[in-house]
Amino acid sequence: MKIICIGRNYAEHAKELKNEIPTEPVFFMKPDTSLLKEEDFYLPDFTKDLHHEIELVIKISKAGKHIQEQFAHKYYEEIGLGIDFTARDLQSKAKEKGLPWEKSKAFDNSAPIGKFISKDKLQLNNIAFELKINGQTKQKGNSKDLIFSFDKIIAYVSQFITLKVGDLIYTGTPEGVGQVQIGDKLEGFLQGESFLKLNVK
Ligand code: ZN
Repeated sequence: MKIICIGRNYAEHAKELKNEIPTEPVFFMKPDTSLLKEEDFYLPDFTKDLHHEIELVIKISKAGKHIQEQFAHKYYEEIGLGIDFTARDLQSKAKEKGLPWEKSKAFDNSAPIGKFISKDKLQLNNIAFELKINGQTKQKGNSKDLIFSFDKIIAYVSQFITLKVGDLIYTGTPEGVGQVQIGDKLEGFLQGESFLKLNVK
């Protein structure tokens, strides 16, 4: 399986990192070795500025390429919550030099994933989600603020890359990204329900 991540998909987050608001989706990938299903995350020593990015995640349930937006909803059944961990110091250096972001985004365990829920139980254009660290809200988002909807993302990405069953799409993070430290306890909520827990060690 592969993980596709969408960057700059919430206007307020694009602004906080001083990025332009994109006119077409920005995406990058993480390998399967970045997926973390355990609750313990070990802070890597190659970064001094590891950032949390809480994101809604689409799980692909049917293979396809060149998927039209109007049919995209048939390619996923479940939505979950994940974190796109980013070594912001390494990413900023790469961006300055116009180099790829992989080192800062695709490292082992950089994609914690929580549980999933059937999309039929949600209003897809109004999914509230939140990240708390040590009980305090750090990021709050809602799918209504997505620049590119789930269906638009699937249509766009599948022009270039065949989507397969089990692939995950991290759909972008809202504003409020920030540093995590050893000892932090992260908890992600979807529609008020706990979906993801992580202890930073
Ligand atoms: Zn992200």
